[in-house]
Order: sequence, then structure tokens, then C-alpha cells
Amino acid sequence: MTARALDGEAVAQAIRREVAGGVADLLARGKTRPRLAVILTGENVASQLYVRNKMKACGEVGIDSELVRLEGKQDGGRTLAAVEELNRRTEVDGILVQLPLPGDADKTRVLHSLDPAKDVDGLHPENVGRMVEGAEGPRPCTPSGILELLKRSGVPLEGRHAVVLGRSDIVGKPMAILLLHENATVTICHSKTRDLPGFARGAEILIAAVGRPGFVTEEFVNSGAAVVDVGIHRIENLDAALDLFGPDSRQVAAVKEGKSVLVGDVHPRRVAPVAAALSPVPGGVGPLTIACLLQNTLRAARVRRGLPPRR
Ligand code: NAP
Repeated sequence: MTARALDGEAVAQAIRREVAGGVADLLARGKTRPRLAVILTGENVASQLYVRNKMKACGEVGIDSELVRLEGKQDGGRTLAAVEELNRRTEVDGILVQLPLPGDADKTRVLHSLDPAKDVDGLHPENVGRMVEGAEGPRPCTPSGILELLKRSGVPLEGRHAVVLGRSDIVGKPMAILLLHENATVTICHSKTRDLPGFARGAEILIAAVGRPGFVTEEFVNSGAAVVDVGIHRIENLDAALDLFGPDSRQVAAVKEGKSVLVGDVHPRRVAPVAAALSPVPGGVGPLTIACLLQNTLRAARVRRGLPPRR
């Protein structure tokens, strides 16, 4: 058996179409276009690419976006000042602080300084509290996207055992809460968990968010499980590519040409024959993170214009 691919690209396209329809609806009501401001601090190359992709996606659904670029050495003071200015500007609906922040910048202080009404990442403590309560509010983009992927791919959640590998504030913890609200039975694992493969094998839904390339192998996976691979890593090493993808893969061919290839936290070659469903990397969770950012920006714009959060 080979796992069915959980097609993040297709689900993300459907969400983008819905957001584009929502923007058109706002304009038809005589309201102004939603606007997202992105703060990019420091020189992280991956962050620069993510920000470009997010702003391009905004343009494609009719959301205006602007970049606040803070270059050079940072102590967090300029990021805080930028957030405060964007909080004040009434035409800005959403503020995204691209993480990680470099150097000594205090991420918690920056996130706490956001106007909760403009927090499109759902990371302000007021919004985290709303999520835990199950109250209406923005949800963190990556776990929210994973939920969309599972639901729209027809993976049943209610009463199922979901195991989340990882407990970060942006992926693991909110993922566990969102699955709990869907009436899944949830286990959270982390670096101090004993017998990680044993817990993972008990999962009907396995979310891999450990930040380690190819970490989840067949010994973690129950046959019949739906596996969501959250990880994103670039590899250039031929032995690693051979192990992860096999000698006849396009990834090995690319590495032989001196290119880097993407891999997630799941070992694709060893897990695909066992799992019932698997999200690919790329084309799984990544596009959904961006689609849910667009959803959250539209939501913020609707609420700030006195409309219900969703049409
Ligand atoms: P993170 O902050 O580094 O957290 C990793 C989590 O995994 C931690 O809770 C850690 O446990 C746990 N962990 C690490 N090594 C482990 C091990 N050997 N055994 C068990 N648990 C282990 O990472 P993150 O921000 O959650 O991101 C996870 C992955 O998703 C990364 O690859 C990241 O690049 C990717 N990501 C992708 C997207 C997307 O849009 N596709 C978005 C966000 C993140 P402790 O808490 O005990 O340290």
C-alpha cells in the first residue's frame, strides 16, 4: 500500500478562492480593501522568502500588503516601535511579525505588544486564551491550516486518537488544542517523552512537528494512520537524499546536480508504504499556512469593519 497524498496545494487553492470571494464581497459593500503589514527583521534568507510568498499571495486574492523592513543589528526596540506604529494606523487590518526575530529581540514582548484585533498569527495571549476557550478568534496559521487539510481531505477527527509530536507555541500546542475542540483524543509528545515511537504508533492521526529531517520512520506509524508532516528542511547531502528518497528519485537527481531539496520531519520513503495518508513536502502544510494567514487577514478586516468574522 502507498499512502494517499494529502494535497495541501489543492486545499490551499480552495481557501484562497474563498478569501478572494470574501474580499470582493467587502468591496461590493463599499468597504475598503483589507491590508496586511509584515515586519521582517534581520537577514534570515528563509524568512525573506516566506515573506515574499506571503505578500504575493495577498496580492493574488486582492489583499493589500506592505513590508516594514528592519535591517542590520536589532535589539527588539525597533520592532516594538514598528508594531506600535502599525497598531495606530487605522488602515492596517493585520500585522504579521515574521519569526524568528534575530539577536536579543524579545519575541514575547513583541507579540504581546500587538493589537489583538490585528494579530493575524493568533499568537497574542488574548487570542491564545480565546483559542483555548473555544471562543471565536484568529487561530495560529500552521495548525489551523493542518485542520483544514484534514477536514477537507475527509479524515475523521471526532473520537480518533491524535498524537502531536512537538509542543512549540506556534505548532504543537495550538495543534493539540484545535484537535481537542474537534473531539479528538489528543496525546502531546516532546523531547522528554519516553518511548516516542510507542506513543506515535497509537495514533490514528499523527502530526509530526519536531524540526528534525526524516525523523519519523515506519516504526512510528500505525498502518492506516493519517500522517501530517509539518517539517521543512533543505538538504544537499547525497547520502541523506538516497536514504530519504531512494536512488531513482528526482530529489537524488537534483542533489547530484548540486541543488538542494526539501524534506519534512517524516521519512517519506519509509512511511509512505505504511500510512494510509501522508502530506507531502513540499505541497502539504506549507501552502496552507499562507492560505490561513489570508483567511485571518480577511477575518480581521471584516471584524474591524463591523461585520461578523465570517460570511
Ligand atoms: P520547535 O519550536 O523547534 O519545536 C520542536 C518541538 O519538537 C519541541 O517541542 C521539541 O521538544 C520537539 N522535539 C525536538 N526533538 C525531539 C525529539 N528528538 N523527540 C521528541 N520531540 C522532539 O519547532 P516548530 O516551530 O514547532 O516547528 C517544527 C517543524 O515545523 C520545523 O521543521 C519547522 O521548520 C516546521 N514548520 C513548518 C511550517 C509550515 O508552514 N510548513 C510552519 C512552522 C514550522 P521540547 O519542547 O521538549 O524541546
